[in-house]
Amino acid sequence: MQTYETVAIERPSPAIARIVMNRPQARNAQNLQMTYDLNAAFDAAAHDDAVKVIVLAGADPHFSSGHDLRASEKDHAGTDFPPVFAWGGFDEPNAHGRFAREQEIYLQMTRRWRNMPKPTIAEVQGRCMAGGLMLAWACDMIVASDDAEFCDPVVGMGVCGVEWFVHPYEVGARKAKEFLFTSDVWSAAEAHRLGMVNHVVARGELRAFVDALAARIAGKPAFALKMAKEAVNRSVDLMGQPAAIEHAFALHQLCHAHNLQEFGMIVDPSGLHPSVTKKPAAE
Ligand code: ZN
Repeated sequence: MQTYETVAIERPSPAIARIVMNRPQARNAQNLQMTYDLNAAFDAAAHDDAVKVIVLAGADPHFSSGHDLRASEKDHAGTDFPPVFAWGGFDEPNAHGRFAREQEIYLQMTRRWRNMPKPTIAEVQGRCMAGGLMLAWACDMIVASDDAEFCDPVVGMGVCGVEWFVHPYEVGARKAKEFLFTSDVWSAAEAHRLGMVNHVVARGELRAFVDALAARIAGKPAFALKMAKEAVNRSVDLMGQPAAIEHAFALHQLCHAHNLQEFGMIVDPSGLHPSVTKKPAAE
């Protein structure tokens, strides 16, 4: 079995692949290594005909605290990691480079995972913040433990929301606005009430619940599962989601360009943790 630097692969049964983000010391913050490891792991699970269901989990105690704002200096999209998509200009020190980088590692990558042609389940415990939301939202179903917390705090950092902007589709327009305007942390119960989460279970029962759910789904015919997913995804696409995401992404890039002019960095430093403002490479 292929191994990865930041992601562990488990096979509770031949039909189920568990992709486990494994940077617990960094609250599973997503650096570039993890982005490309996740992409390779999703590909491997998609191409393995024995796998019928993919679970995305995070090594305890948290699912994901978001994008790694203190990513190491070696993390350059397009050079250290061969690009998956066709955007160029990664090294441009301007909006061109930022647009290309975020197209590659956030927008297009998340869309690719969202469209994996097999059912995916996010198994969420602890914190699921900012970029962590993108990972959970890219999955078909979300099962959360009762201690899970959800938050998109980036308006406080001078940006209009995370790069994969599906907030209105996940919780409805009014609650999406409240979520963004306040940066409030929502409980698993609240996320469940709004329809963003399929099930909430006790923390100690999360793994067993997801295993059982995945096993039930894996009992269905593989091709029908793929077609059911395609049918739902295309339905959401026809509701306008891709165009809405593209528009919000352009506004997101405008916010980065504004912040760069205003503060010399792509986010408003007043909304950042002090340890992050020392690094200019924040996402
Ligand atoms: Zn961004």
